Amino acid sequence: GRIITVAQQKGGSGKTTLAVNLAADLLRRGHSVALIDTDPQGSLGRWFLERLDRIGEQDGLEFSTSSAWGASYESEKLKKRFDFVIIDTPPKIDSDLRPALRVADLVLVPVATSHVDLWATEGVLDLARREKSEALIVLNRTRPNTRLTAEIAEKAGALGAGIAATQIANRVAYAETLGQGLGAGESGRNATARAEVAALTTEILSHWD
Ligand code: ADP
Ligand code: MG
Repeated sequence: GRIITVAQQKGGSGKTTLAVNLAADLLRRGHSVALIDTDPQGSLGRWFLERLDRIGEQDGLEFSTSSAWGASYESEKLKKRFDFVIIDTPPKIDSDLRPALRVADLVLVPVATSHVDLWATEGVLDLARREKSEALIVLNRTRPNTRLTAEIAEKAGALGAGIAATQIANRVAYAETLGQGLGAGESGRNATARAEVAALTTEILSHWD
């Protein structure tokens, strides 16, 4: 299987949101997914528990926790059994993060669309580069057709990493479904969110075509 690490120094940028929505869409496509939470805050684990409550055990989905340091051992082990291993990480950049970056086939870096988030992004890109892992920036919480979004997209593009063509817009659906243990696309009314997550998944999968 492939290992995808979601990392960004800035808290609240959408790491966990991206991890769960990607996982849900991969499951929908029939892929198996192992989630690893290395963030002591445990949001991904809370999401998984909510999911267990709501829909019970699900074939092809597993959750575990790990220290950041232990993430490479855990993920190497899980990738033998799962199509995808997704590692969620805490909002900090230090040497503990290195194993999770090193082991990744792709590092996803969400940037909530603000300058503050953008400023926080170079650190993780540098570290990923040093670990020889490819990074892809995903613009999150965009407000389509605003000057701010255009400006952040342009500046993010200049950071020397890939940038996903698909943006994830600011939508209540993402916040709501995170608390329900679902991906936004798994809840009835969110066709637009479902479509943009699917487009992003397709883009991510195209890395391995
Ligand atoms: P991180 O894991 O990077 O700390 P989270 O994924 O927990 O960030 O997101 C932080 C908060 O922002 C959560 O309340 C989440 O529901 C909300 N959020 C994240 N992405 C979006 C989005 N695209 N639209 C609306 N709310 C979002
Ligand atoms: Mg998180």
